[in-house]
Amino acid sequence: MNRLLDVDGIAVSPDHYIDGRRVPSDQTFPLSSPIDQAVLGAVSEGRAEHVDAAVGAAARAFPAWAALGAEGRKPVLDRFAEEIGRRADAFCRLESRDAGVLLSRMRHGVVPRAMLNIRWFAEQALTLQDRVIHTEQAEHRVRHDPAGVAAIITPWNAPLMLSTWKLGPALASGNACVLKPPEWAPLTCSLLADAADAAGLPPGVLNIVQGAGASTGAALVSDKRLARISFTGSVPTARAIAQAAGANLVPASLELGGKSAFIVLEDADLDNAAATAALMYRNAGQVCLAGTRLLVHARIAEAFVAALRGYVERLVIGDPRDEATELGPIIHARQVERVEGFVARARQAGAEVLWGGGRHPFGAQYFQPTLLANVAQASEIVQNEVFGPVLTLQTFADDDEAIALANGTDYGLGGVCYGETAHAAALAERVRTGFLWINSFGIRDLAAPFGGIKRSGIGREGGDWSFEFFSDVKDIVIPKKPFRASFSHR
Ligand code: NAD
Repeated sequence: MNRLLDVDGIAVSPDHYIDGRRVPSDQTFPLSSPIDQAVLGAVSEGRAEHVDAAVGAAARAFPAWAALGAEGRKPVLDRFAEEIGRRADAFCRLESRDAGVLLSRMRHGVVPRAMLNIRWFAEQALTLQDRVIHTEQAEHRVRHDPAGVAAIITPWNAPLMLSTWKLGPALASGNACVLKPPEWAPLTCSLLADAADAAGLPPGVLNIVQGAGASTGAALVSDKRLARISFTGSVPTARAIAQAAGANLVPASLELGGKSAFIVLEDADLDNAAATAALMYRNAGQVCLAGTRLLVHARIAEAFVAALRGYVERLVIGDPRDEATELGPIIHARQVERVEGFVARARQAGAEVLWGGGRHPFGAQYFQPTLLANVAQASEIVQNEVFGPVLTLQTFADDDEAIALANGTDYGLGGVCYGETAHAAALAERVRTGFLWINSFGIRDLAAPFGGIKRSGIGREGGDWSFEFFSDVKDIVIPKKPFRASFSHR
């Protein structure tokens, strides 16, 4: 009989999912809600033996799953997406409870997107078979073969979205997966196993091992049987994973943090720019692609800050399960302390707090939306990712200075630029980053590339880029004229 946790009336397994079965551990870790610190239960903590069993199950399941071909896998993956949809309410309420994500965002954004992540890649995989290149000498049948066992490691700020964003292309390309969910918010990934099971995913094709990064995660990424590692998380963790991947020469895709610029040019629509800048506080600022460094033309800075203040003052801070709430809690007490530390050190270094600056009275893990001015480019608050509701403000006199500030960090994930469209687009070409939104924010498409440069990551996800990563490209060469071996032949 499988054990189940009861989280607000939702039954969810606290155990691993290995080879199509729930597997408990004698070691567990406690889980509490960021909303009110209520204890949600004890979750199985993976040891080396669980990782070993999960990778072994995936390796055994791989050949048959790969042999199904994209056509054979598509109906199974379509059913997987349907089963996610059937559990939509549970997914929404669970992730709101264990990660503090807004319920409204779960309902209208995350769950539909999770279904699409599975469905869209299953459909796209059909187009990947046998691309043929004809040359004078030969026909090249270029195939995308499934790579093997893929390790998928995801962070807590968007567990369901990011796990399905990686599982979609990995499974659709014929790989078998071992998912290591974030230890601070593992519940929706556990529910994902129920959906996969109900959809009839063959045992071993998707395995889930829960646990801490330094133990369970580290054991997973050093397993020699892996063919791919797909990771989203922080820079220090990426370094550890890259070393493990390097030791076994396993290709790793690394989607990391950001410190993106939000540039407001003198010819920008100020009110629109300010409304979008307020969005940077979304998910309590725990968003990798947020433009957290506001770079504003000096002549309009005062008016822009006044407009932004108006939007920030109207933000509804509260329980993420309340449909009206716009700003919820920070994931963990340790993360709140981290955010507090950043703000305290910035103040010591001379930063001026334009608003916010401390905890919010709604709850122990709530932090006020904060804006810090008078910050030096070289300072910690400008150079390092806070991952909380803290923005900085810097001004510039001309485009060259805006570019110097925008490019003056080690990160290069996203970016936003508000201004007359041609002006903003020309400026965007000079920003060193993975993507940049002009007069907008957050427009994403599964077919478009996503990823960062510099410390923000290695590799791209989305569309063809995901398939390239999760596949082994093979060229089968068939000569057009009879071939006769000869030492003088070139
Ligand atoms: P993290 O790096 O601490 O953890 C991410 C995952 O890695 C977790 O599942 C964790 O258990 C695991 N992990 C930790 N150490 C490991 C190890 N040695 N070996 C294997 N796995 C290990 O990151 P986090 O704090 O959970 O997430 C926040 C970070 O994620 C931020 O830096 C944020 O910018 C980044 N992020 C990036 C993107 C993106 O697409 N670029 C998206 C979301 C979040």
